[in-house]
Amino acid sequence: MTKKQKKNLKRILLAAVILGVLLVLTKVPSVRAVLPLPESEMAQRMVLIPVFLIPYLIVGYDVILKALKKIKKGDFLDEEFLMMIATVGAFAVGDYPEATAVMLFYQVGELFQSIAVGKSRKSISDLMDICPDTAVVLRPEDPEDPASPLSEIELDPSEVSVGEIVLVKPGEKIPIDGEIIEGTSSINAAALTGESIPEEKSPGDKCFSGCINLTHAIKIRTTAKYEDSTVAKILELVENSTDKKARSESFITRFSHFYTPTVVFCAVVITIVLLLATDLGFAKSLYRGLIFLVVSCPCALVVSVPLAFFSGIGAASRQGILVKGSNYLEALATIDTLVLDKTGTLTEGRFAVEAVHPKEIDPDALIDIAALAESRSNHPVAESIVKAHATHIDSTRLGEVEEIPGRGIRAVIDGQTYYVGNGALMDDIHADYHDCHIAGTIVHVAKATEYLGHIVINDVIKSGSKDALSALSKAGVKNIVMLTGDNEQVAAKVAKDVGVDTYYAGLLPAQKVEKLEMLLASGSAVPTDGATFKHPAKTRAKSSHVAFAGDGINDAPVLTRADIGIAMGALGSDAAIEAADVVLMNDDLEKIPVAINLARKTLRIVKENIAFSLAVKIAIMVLGSIGIADMKLAVFGDVGVLILAILNVMLRLTSRRSKNA
Ligand code: ADP
Ligand code: MG
Repeated sequence: MTKKQKKNLKRILLAAVILGVLLVLTKVPSVRAVLPLPESEMAQRMVLIPVFLIPYLIVGYDVILKALKKIKKGDFLDEEFLMMIATVGAFAVGDYPEATAVMLFYQVGELFQSIAVGKSRKSISDLMDICPDTAVVLRPEDPEDPASPLSEIELDPSEVSVGEIVLVKPGEKIPIDGEIIEGTSSINAAALTGESIPEEKSPGDKCFSGCINLTHAIKIRTTAKYEDSTVAKILELVENSTDKKARSESFITRFSHFYTPTVVFCAVVITIVLLLATDLGFAKSLYRGLIFLVVSCPCALVVSVPLAFFSGIGAASRQGILVKGSNYLEALATIDTLVLDKTGTLTEGRFAVEAVHPKEIDPDALIDIAALAESRSNHPVAESIVKAHATHIDSTRLGEVEEIPGRGIRAVIDGQTYYVGNGALMDDIHADYHDCHIAGTIVHVAKATEYLGHIVINDVIKSGSKDALSALSKAGVKNIVMLTGDNEQVAAKVAKDVGVDTYYAGLLPAQKVEKLEMLLASGSAVPTDGATFKHPAKTRAKSSHVAFAGDGINDAPVLTRADIGIAMGALGSDAAIEAADVVLMNDDLEKIPVAINLARKTLRIVKENIAFSLAVKIAIMVLGSIGIADMKLAVFGDVGVLILAILNVMLRLTSRRSKNA
């Protein structure tokens, strides 16, 4: 509990005790009999009103002040205003204990709400424990002389420049993204990915800020400034996530704007009608109008709906699933088509060289050229070929390099232009190439238009892909579609092995966008080429969504175009983090069904809370206006519903159990 919450709790307890004593004094007949209360009702009021005002003001002065301030501003139709007129009205009709109790319960509800919001904010910031406080930098003692001995200086991470050396001791967080230059240690990325499998890292390996260094001291050369580091990016993303409101959330905001005036109007009408049409008299008619007002307070909705989304986002982030806004959480719940990229998403993206088929040159020379050309690309194909090249890559031989997305590379090596890529690239340059009898991804190499041969590489399917796909079907995803720039043969094999029903092969990045648009336009039906769509785009309601999941390499346009773009393995990939709406820190496909189930659960809780609080409220409103429910029941109805709604969120979304949503 924060200081303010503790202070409020003390106020509530104090007011409750005073109210309890006053109730005993005034309501227990034998006690009341011995009190020197004046005879006349008027005179009794003069005594009781100031006495009950004490606990009332102790617990409610801030509500009254807030309401008055808002009235001054002209914008007063909100819950504080409702509370003020309801309680002042109750005082006016002689219900002093009720008025005080209403305020008391209201404050209990407020306290509860602030604790709940604080708790789910904390669960998000738990993940944000990744945020380092300081960085120990090794700098030359004499700034003028870089050769002077190094000394350790503790700095704020934002003061460290790129290329400086940071010392990270065991048990400490890595403050800034960098590359290890000294020491070998186990590094745990659990705070970022939700998975606690430490990885052994040694000099030359990249490491990301926010990970924890477990076993040995390491020295890191920073490769980014703090602001551009993984930690800062993630923090920014999570902080902004609550700005993007879900439809049901903004509905509530709009709803309460129109709701409060309506309710005040209804209360006035009820009072007037009862006064004119019955013989209840003014006080009783007003009393029923006031009950109506108290019950109508929409706080359970106003509080619990954003809280549920907030907690849902928090629960997701604990598992390394970052959702960029409540609107995306809402959309996740209604995904019915999931489009997947192949390389790096369904497969590992780590190709092994299967065969090298050179034409009139040495196999090593072919690999050499391919590796040189690919050495600046971060495409999985490129990284695998570079890895297959055993010796050092002499980058001085490399001239201009152009990456042609979905096709390959054009590179100038030793002053000659080479092309390294797929059949489409060979077609473009009119090289006389041929495919291979071995199935696999084929990387052709040509010198200008002269064909030099090809390298056959093969990727392996991720071990969890198949299970993830069946979990996706269980989570309600009806269509799973695979898109790939790879050849038909490879695509068909992968699709069959993981169990994807529809796939499209040989696509350029722009064609992937086209296919996605086709799926977006066709609603839930997966179109076969040339078929007429059952649901034309115009009539399609946004009750279902098309999501795309990819690794962000080459597919950022598709990520952006989809209703929901899901970036996989985003740790260390800024482009993916930026283009996506949902970011999976690791590249585990099984997180997608987890995210969908969590989103569904959140929405279910939101709907339950809305239905439940409206039902209770309407019931008490009706009972109150026909005189069955009194003010106490009204207060219980209001605060009780609020507390139950909050508990519903907290117990089901914030608890540890929600890990396995
Ligand atoms: P995917 O859709 O499987 O993720 P991409 O669209 O990234 O694949 O690439 C499609 C194809 O283009 C690859 O299968 C490969 O044949 C070729 N390609 C793309 N980039 C490169 C590269 N850097 N080097 C060689 N081939 C490449
Ligand atoms: Mg790709």
